[in-house]
Amino acid sequence: MKKSLALVVATTAALALSACSSSDSDPGGAATGTVAVVTSTNVYGDIAAQVGGDLVHVTAIIDDPSADPHSYEASAQTQLALSRAALVVENGGGYDDFVDTMLDAISTEPVVVNAVEVSGKDTGGDLNEHVWYDFPTVRALAGTIADELSSIDADNAATYAANATAFQAKVDDLIAETDAIKAEHAGAGVAITEPVPLYLLENAGLVNKTPEAFSEAIEEETDVPPAALKDTIALFSSHAVDALVYNSQTTGTETERVLSAAKDAGVPVVPVTETMPEGRDYVSWMTANIDAVRSALAS
Ligand SMILES: [Zn+2]
Repeated sequence: MKKSLALVVATTAALALSACSSSDSDPGGAATGTVAVVTSTNVYGDIAAQVGGDLVHVTAIIDDPSADPHSYEASAQTQLALSRAALVVENGGGYDDFVDTMLDAISTEPVVVNAVEVSGKDTGGDLNEHVWYDFPTVRALAGTIADELSSIDADNAATYAANATAFQAKVDDLIAETDAIKAEHAGAGVAITEPVPLYLLENAGLVNKTPEAFSEAIEEETDVPPAALKDTIALFSSHAVDALVYNSQTTGTETERVLSAAKDAGVPVVPVTETMPEGRDYVSWMTANIDAVRSALAS
């Protein structure tokens, strides 16, 4: 929905005031001849860079590995980058609504790729919006990005298609690796603190035993119902789960209690993150996640 002009002005002013910086020092300042791409997180930034190669200039709005994207506050610098973008890649599904809000406030209309839409997942009810942990979605997303870049920059369509194919082959390896976990450990119980890694775990045939009231409260940063906390902690002492996969970007009293309950019971813990850690690209990051889950299950 479009906002009234007055509201847009007020919102933009508020955004400018709360400016915490995007870490790209060159917002949207595409080098001559490259396609300006803006993505909501560094995860989509890397995928877009894999497909676009040297032909694109990517600005990732959230690329601080320690930031929690759910509580991101937009900045004037981000607004500027978006106003110069030819292609925008967002997660969608309520995860990075600030992108749409800011797009509403600018007059240019970049092509927008929405990963949740690409996933084809049902957005009604309780969508797990962390679709970048779903490898078939990421595979399809690379194809969609290549198609959109080709329509923006038709001369280089063959390069975008070839880059996407090369990236998709690596994603196929990730799919094969999760299939290998499934072959060995299908049906094994796992616990999570947040739904972040859930698609990866489910694709690997693992069963999430965490009470939904617990993981939802952690994700939404609301109070965990005492019964849900108790039931979650009991998963470890009763060895109903073989691993705890927790979001290391969100910590708090309840998360720490669950973590120490797992450690006390000798249940392996696997840290995961919402955004890409420093020094990683998408494929090496996800390979490390898969390896960590596999060795946790093997121990
Ligand atoms: Zn999340």
